[in-house]
Amino acid sequence: MKIVMLGAPGAGKGTQAIKIADKYGIPHISTGDIFRANIKGGTELGMKAKSYMDKGELVPDEVTIGMLLDRIAQDDCKDGYVLDGFPRTIPQAESLTKALAEKGDKIDCAMDIEVPDEAIVQRMSGRRACPKCGATYHIVYAAPKTENVCDKCGSELIIRSDDKPETVQDRLNVYHKQTEPLISYYKNADVLREVDGTKELQEVFNDVVAILENK
Ligand code: AMP
Repeated sequence: MKIVMLGAPGAGKGTQAIKIADKYGIPHISTGDIFRANIKGGTELGMKAKSYMDKGELVPDEVTIGMLLDRIAQDDCKDGYVLDGFPRTIPQAESLTKALAEKGDKIDCAMDIEVPDEAIVQRMSGRRACPKCGATYHIVYAAPKTENVCDKCGSELIIRSDDKPETVQDRLNVYHKQTEPLISYYKNADVLREVDGTKELQEVFNDVVAILENK
């Protein structure tokens, strides 16, 4: 099962992607996580990505596409995967379609998690992250046991620079301009499925599973 998650930043697609990966035993591949791991590790790729990410812009396709295609060529991806944060542009989607088609393969489902912008801005202002282990929290929906302290490693939590309110609005603008056209792209490919992402997390997941199991 090869799944692409669509939806604005903050729509909850990462959370749903992790749950899908867990339930079906397939890798969860987040390009944002790969970039963040590279930034942390001080790699050349990380250095290239950082300036774009800090501004809420997309990392250029020539960096992102190769990185993702290498990742899905790895052995653990042979029975499928869930892509979270890729594709984010039409050229990225086209490269993915082409790489899969060369092996007689295709994306089975593009799952669009729909949430209006206002709700996203409200949600993202509450996000917190652990700078040390990467765990993420939300002050209302997924609060740590002790305020502002990571449950997993005890570090003080931070607001990721790309979760700051001004950056969130920039990221939403980027989403509408560059990523939203993917909805039509996957609709035309007849694999688009839409779920209401404003519902409670587990309800959204039940809807996602119902869709995947009816395929
Ligand atoms: P995310 O964790 O998916 O919200 O991604 C965080 C940031 O990483 C984005 O705002 C982009 O700057 C960058 N990024 C992640 N995935 C991609 C992608 N497919 N194309 C370009 N930039 C990306």
